[in-house]
Amino acid sequence: MEELIKQGMNAIMNTYGRFSIVLESGAGCRVTDSEGKTYLDFVAGIAVNSLGHGNEKLVKAISEQAGLLLHVSNLYWNKPQIELASKLVRHSPFDKAFFCNSGAESVEGSLKLARKYASKHHPERFEIISMKNSFHGRTFAAITATGQLKYQKGLSPLLPGIAHVEYDSYEALEAAVSDKTCAVLMEPVQGEGGIRPAGKEYLQKVRALCAEKDIMLIFDEVQCGAGRTGTFFAFEQLGAEPDAAVLAKGMAGGVPIGVILAKDRFAQAFEPGDHAATFGGNPLAMAAGNVVADELWENGLLDHAKEAGSHLRAKLLELKGRRPDFIRDVRGLGLMQGIETAGAAAPVISECIERGLLLVNAGANVIRFVPPLIVTADEIDEACAILEDALK
Ligand SMILES: *Cc1c(COP(=O)(O)O)cnc(C)c1O
Repeated sequence: MEELIKQGMNAIMNTYGRFSIVLESGAGCRVTDSEGKTYLDFVAGIAVNSLGHGNEKLVKAISEQAGLLLHVSNLYWNKPQIELASKLVRHSPFDKAFFCNSGAESVEGSLKLARKYASKHHPERFEIISMKNSFHGRTFAAITATGQLKYQKGLSPLLPGIAHVEYDSYEALEAAVSDKTCAVLMEPVQGEGGIRPAGKEYLQKVRALCAEKDIMLIFDEVQCGAGRTGTFFAFEQLGAEPDAAVLAKGMAGGVPIGVILAKDRFAQAFEPGDHAATFGGNPLAMAAGNVVADELWENGLLDHAKEAGSHLRAKLLELKGRRPDFIRDVRGLGLMQGIETAGAAAPVISECIERGLLLVNAGANVIRFVPPLIVTADEIDEACAILEDALK
C-alpha cells in the first residue's frame, strides 16, 4: 500500500488531504482496502453512493447500457435522458431539466440561467446573492458564490456581481436585495458549512420576497437532494419551493451527473446554443440516474432513508446525552446529520478509521454522517458504537 501511495504522490497533483488508505472494493455499506481491512462507510463518497457499493441493479443497468451505447452527442436524443428528465419533472414542481456532470457545473449553469433570465426581463439586474459559510463547488462562479474565504484565497479577481449575506437571517437578505439583484442562491441544508438546515419561517419569507421582486430563487441541493434527507428534495420538508434547484452527488449512485431543474418561466431563458455540456445527459449516467430514481420513487428507498435518518438522529442524540462534554449539538435532516464537537473533529475521525468506520468532517468542529441511503439500523448502531468507543 505504501509503495502505491508513493507512486500516487509522484504523479497526482497535491490538492487533497488524503488518508493513507487505498480502497479497492465495496459491498453494500462496506468498503475494503488493498490490505484487506474492511470499513463501515458512512462517507459514501461524500453523499454520493446512495445505493451503497456493488448494487446489483445499478451494476446491471450500467453494464447493459455500456454495451448498448456509452455516449452520444446532444445533437441527438437518447432514451435514458428523456426517461430521467420525465421522472424528475413528474415528481417535482419543476418543468424542465438540463443535465451536466457535477455539482459545480450545475451551480454554474443555474447562475448563467439567472443572468440570462434577467437580461431578458430585467436588463438592469445582474447581482447574485449567496450565503456566508456556503459551499457551491470549485469553478470560478461556484467558488465565488461559496461563502468561505479559505476556498477563495489566491484566486482573485473572482467573478464580479456576487454578494454574500448571513445564512438564515431574513433581515440580512432583505437589506442586501436591491434593484440589481437577479438571483438568490442557497443550500436549504448547508453541507460543507457544518450541516445546518435553514429555518422554515426564514425560507418561506425568502421565497415570498423573491416572488414579489421576480428574483430567481435557486436551491443548491447537490448534497442534500436526491433522497438524502428522506424526501427527494430537502425543501419539501422546509415549506419553500424555489424557482430552480441543482442536484448532483447522489443522483446517479456514483456515476458523475449533475442537473439543473427549473420552472418553465425561467427555463425558457435558455435558447438553443445558450448552454451545453458534451457529457451532460449521456446514456451511461442517465441509466444510472434512472436506477436511483426508481429505487427512490418506486421501490421505497425514500421511506427507508427517512426511517434510517430518524434512527441515526435518535442514536446521535442519545450519544450526546451520554457525552455532553464532547457533543455540543446534533444537526441535520434525514441521512444528512452532523455532530458539533467540543474539540477538533479530525482526531476523532482518525480514531474511527482505526476502528473500521469512515466518517468525514464538515468544517473543523463537525463530524458528518452521510451513509448510503440503504444503510440498516444495525449498521447505524454499529457506527455509533464505534464512535462512542473512539471517544474514550
Ligand atoms: C459537493 C457540493 C458542490 C460541488 O459539487 P462537485 O460535484 O464537487 O462540483 C456544490 N454544492 C454543494 C452543496 C455541494 O455539497
